Amino acid sequence: MAKHKTHFEECDVLVVGGGMAGTGATFEARHWGRDLKIICVEKANIDRSGAVAQGLYAINCYMGMQWDENQPEDHVRYARNDLMGMVREDLGYDMARHVDSTVHMFDEWGLPMMKNEKTGRYLREGKWQIMIHGESYKPIVAEAAKKSADKIYNRIMITHLLMDEAKENRVGGAVGFNMRTGDFHVFRAKTVIVAAGGASHIFKPRAVGEGMGRTWYAPWSNGSAYALPIAAGAKMTQMENRIVLCRFKDGYGPVGAYFLHLKTYTQNANGENYEKKWYDQTKELVGEYIDHHPTPTCLRNHAFIQETMAGGGPIQMVTTEAFQDPHLETVGWENFLGMTVGQAVVWASQNIDPKYTNPELTTSEPYVMGSHATCSGAWVSGPEDLSPPEYFWGYNRMLTIEGLFGAGDTVGGSAHKFSSGSFTEGRLAAKAAVKYIEDQKAEGINVSDKQCDDFKVKVYKPLDTYTVAQNEITGGTVSPSYISPIQGLQRLQRIMDEYVGGIATNYMTNENMLKRGLELLAWLEEDLEKVGAEDYHQLMRAWELKHRALTSQCVTEHTLFREETRWPGYYYRGDHMKLDDDNWHCLTVSRRDPKSGKFTMEKVPVYHIVDENEKKKAS
Ligand SMILES: Cc1cc2nc3c(=O)[nH]c(=O)nc-3n(C[C@H](O)[C@H](O)[C@H](O)COP(=O)(O)OP(=O)(O)OC[C@H]3O[C@@H](n4cnc5c(N)ncnc54)[C@H](O)[C@@H]3O)c2cc1C
Repeated sequence: MAKHKTHFEECDVLVVGGGMAGTGATFEARHWGRDLKIICVEKANIDRSGAVAQGLYAINCYMGMQWDENQPEDHVRYARNDLMGMVREDLGYDMARHVDSTVHMFDEWGLPMMKNEKTGRYLREGKWQIMIHGESYKPIVAEAAKKSADKIYNRIMITHLLMDEAKENRVGGAVGFNMRTGDFHVFRAKTVIVAAGGASHIFKPRAVGEGMGRTWYAPWSNGSAYALPIAAGAKMTQMENRIVLCRFKDGYGPVGAYFLHLKTYTQNANGENYEKKWYDQTKELVGEYIDHHPTPTCLRNHAFIQETMAGGGPIQMVTTEAFQDPHLETVGWENFLGMTVGQAVVWASQNIDPKYTNPELTTSEPYVMGSHATCSGAWVSGPEDLSPPEYFWGYNRMLTIEGLFGAGDTVGGSAHKFSSGSFTEGRLAAKAAVKYIEDQKAEGINVSDKQCDDFKVKVYKPLDTYTVAQNEITGGTVSPSYISPIQGLQRLQRIMDEYVGGIATNYMTNENMLKRGLELLAWLEEDLEKVGAEDYHQLMRAWELKHRALTSQCVTEHTLFREETRWPGYYYRGDHMKLDDDNWHCLTVSRRDPKSGKFTMEKVPVYHIVDENEKKKAS
């Protein structure tokens, strides 16, 4: 252990993850906490990290309140509809009322925004989206964070949260290691904001073997945002609400700009509008939700999946009409070049010119996240002016652990935040964290050296395991006494895929399969004590795997608890195929006891605040 040097830092605000939410948090913490010590720790390099690393072509969440294009209430209704009723409206409203100010700052900081030549306003792609030349998006927000923080640590993976030993259930910082130097880092902190992104690669991806690593959500998003708080005993919500995306096949190229801006549409192999065909069947399952406008994302997926299972595939995007217009053709290609270069490469390699060939679409493997069209994540306090008592315990975006805050993909219940909303939520969390410190709530925190040393032993164990076990390798990477991170990952993905509603079963699961999945996950957890790492990069892989495995347990527990199919097209409970508003019009909340490792589940009411308030005003 001595060979790994330990560095100690003490700070007021520790931001874990320097993606969209983390940069927002770091920036805003400085605004409110001029004299505070603010540190941001990032697993990669903050200039090109997280889901926006490669750039984006649209900011997907902008109200346009100054022009009365949309108001926050509209966004709440939109997110509520898309999530089949299940959102935290207090959180959604709070994000929406602040998101425009965030976007205006991006504009001031030099992000190239497309403008509508006639109106001078931001160019709309859809009701909520505005278009940008966004290759430089991430470096721009990173610069704001770098100017705000006392220090940014790159290449450090946070593995565990530290807990205060003076007061129960209060956070005391975090530990991790530098994957280049191998050094151990202890951050004692008065508040911690977890902004570590969503989770890809917990379900087996469509692309395996040579294509492994090609996923829709960033392959390096490994669920730390969930595993860190779960391990510390924080409550989580809606973890069953994984997302499945309809995307261009093999490259996961986004379809938003195609639908909204290019006005392309989908058809089955016979050139038919297949969505109509599945209307009656979907109505049987979900009732009037199928008549909502816009059609919830999961229900559109449902029609796609049913049509494919019925032999109507391949499903295609009709691009050959729009691409006859040279301007739209350029937009279509640029959309990928600024965001998903791989899709353009896939089309080139498959001889697809969308001007002459309608490209295939597919539904992806499931992902877990809290900022896109799903809302898995931590159960947090809302803002004091909006939240009902069940949703409020003192500080906005504080988890059920004191001093621990979350933003972006970390936070559950508030879907459709996207890049701008995640940055905004980081700002909201940071403002509250500073207030928590100012209110003297973080006094007397005690994190002993022993707690840090114990974590240090745990963190490096995979290196020690490998050092011994490599002597028993019988061939290649086969050893009777350790498993490698990739072996463990593939085993995890198969369990999730086959038992928890992945692509292997066309997103189908049931109580028996979920229970078996939990048993297999428990065996995996035991075996992960024997994961071996031959170098610091593999050590990162080992900890990514452990975070993914813990996230997966939580997803499975939630999926078992909700005895209905709330989101057909995201997953199906074969034993409860119908949406059941009588029993399940509620949010699910879990807590894992850090000592026993056992999960407990509860139902929490879902409050439709926006329209309730309007009803009250009217009466
Ligand atoms: C393919 C794709 C397309 C998208 N398209 C759009 C779009 O067109 N428009 C739009 O507005 N939004 C879009 N989004 C959504 C947007 O990217 C996310 O909503 C947003 O990035 C979420 O912010 P976040 O901070 O929670 O996560 P991220 O931005 O992913 O940041 C998480 C950060 O945490 C770091 N990290 C992870 N684990 C650890 C750890 N253990 N220790 C330290 N650091 C860690 C990561 O390296 C990363 O930098 C898209 C996302 C994807 C993946």
